[in-house]
This record gives sequence, C-alpha cells and structure tokens, in this order.
Amino acid sequence: MNPLASKMIFTMGIVLWLVIRIPYQREQQSNTIVNERQTAPDKIIRLLVLAGILFLPLIYVLSPWLNEANYHLPIWANGLGVVTLAISLWLFWRAHHDLGLNWSPTLQIREGHTLMTNGVYHSIRHPMYTSVLLLGIAQALLLPNWIAGLAGLVSFSIAYATRIDQEEQMLLEQFGDEYSAYRQHTKRLVPYLF
Ligand code: SAH
Repeated sequence: MNPLASKMIFTMGIVLWLVIRIPYQREQQSNTIVNERQTAPDKIIRLLVLAGILFLPLIYVLSPWLNEANYHLPIWANGLGVVTLAISLWLFWRAHHDLGLNWSPTLQIREGHTLMTNGVYHSIRHPMYTSVLLLGIAQALLLPNWIAGLAGLVSFSIAYATRIDQEEQMLLEQFGDEYSAYRQHTKRLVPYLF
C-alpha cells in the first residue's frame, strides 16, 4: 500500500477514536465518585499512552524526522492493519456503549455503579483494553517505523501492567462474589484464551 495511504488511514482511525470517546468523557464528568484508586503515577502513564498512540504517530505522519527508523512491510500486512483498526474502533465504541456511565478514565467506583457482564463484557472483562491492544497492532502494521509504529504497543503494555491488578482488586472489593463468579467464566482480553 502507498505509505501515504496507510498514514492517512491510521490518522483517520485516531480521529474516530477520539470522536467515539468525547460524549462519554463529557457524561462521566457528572458522576459522583464514591471510591477512587490511583495507579502508580497515573498522570504519567496516561501521558505515555497519549504519546504512544497520538503524538509519536503524528510526528511520523507530519514530518520526516523519524524516517531513519522505517521498516518494510508487505502489502498484505497493511491490509491486515486496516482490518485490525476497524475491529479496534468497533470494540472501543461497543465497550463504551455497554459500560455507559460506569466508564471512567481513572480507576473509580461511581454512585450507582453496576457490574457490567453483558454485551462485549460477556466473555472478556476488559474489552476496552483489548481495543487499545488492537489499535497498537494496527499501528505497527500501518506505520512501518520502529519508533512511531511500535510506540502504541509499548505504551499499552506499560499502562496495562500498572493498572490491571488494581482495577480487578477494586471491582472485587466493590462487587464481592458477583465479581468472583464473573471472573471465573471470563478471560481478561481475548475470549477463551487469556
Ligand atoms: N477495564 C475495562 C473498563 C475500562 S474503564 C475495559 O477494558 O473494558 C475503567 C473503569 O471501568 C474502572 O474505573 C472500573 O470501575 C470500571 N469497570 C471495569 N470493568 C467493569 C465492569 N465489568 N462493570 C462495571 N464497571 C467496570
């Protein structure tokens, strides 16, 4: 695929990603928070994710500065990147839709919080994180650059590792047996696998 085309497709994906989030970001601001958990250095981690999926790709798309670190990909890999990006966006939207007002950018329990176990939460507990993982894979397949292409996967891995145990612990304390039972018949990121 023409490198410009794959850059454009990824950029459009990121714009859509931000558009999907806007209404939920607004809605959750009216939530009353009853419990909040700070993960490691929360703000730094969120900045790292933004750098990984937004700032570095933008530098790569808009300037020649990172071009020394380009790698080559066959056209089928770009095609796979487009499919992965589309699935990621769909799942990102679905997870926001299903979680509704229970969504929050940091780890929080809000007033009236309910445990979501339906929709895309039926077989995996963290579909939103799965969608970010898929976005990282799409990024590596659409932006063939060791820095801009891999930054999404690297930042996702760090953010996921610092957050996931604390998130599950918080939900376990809040929902007790209901969350234990939910954990027993679901996987974290990929249905039936892990
Ligand atoms: N980890 C989830 C949600 C990310 S948003 C995912 O990847 O899809 C983070 C917030 O979602 C946390 O503050 C937590 O309170 C809430 N949350 C996570 N799983 C939930 C669930 N199954 N039901 C209700 N709220 C949930």
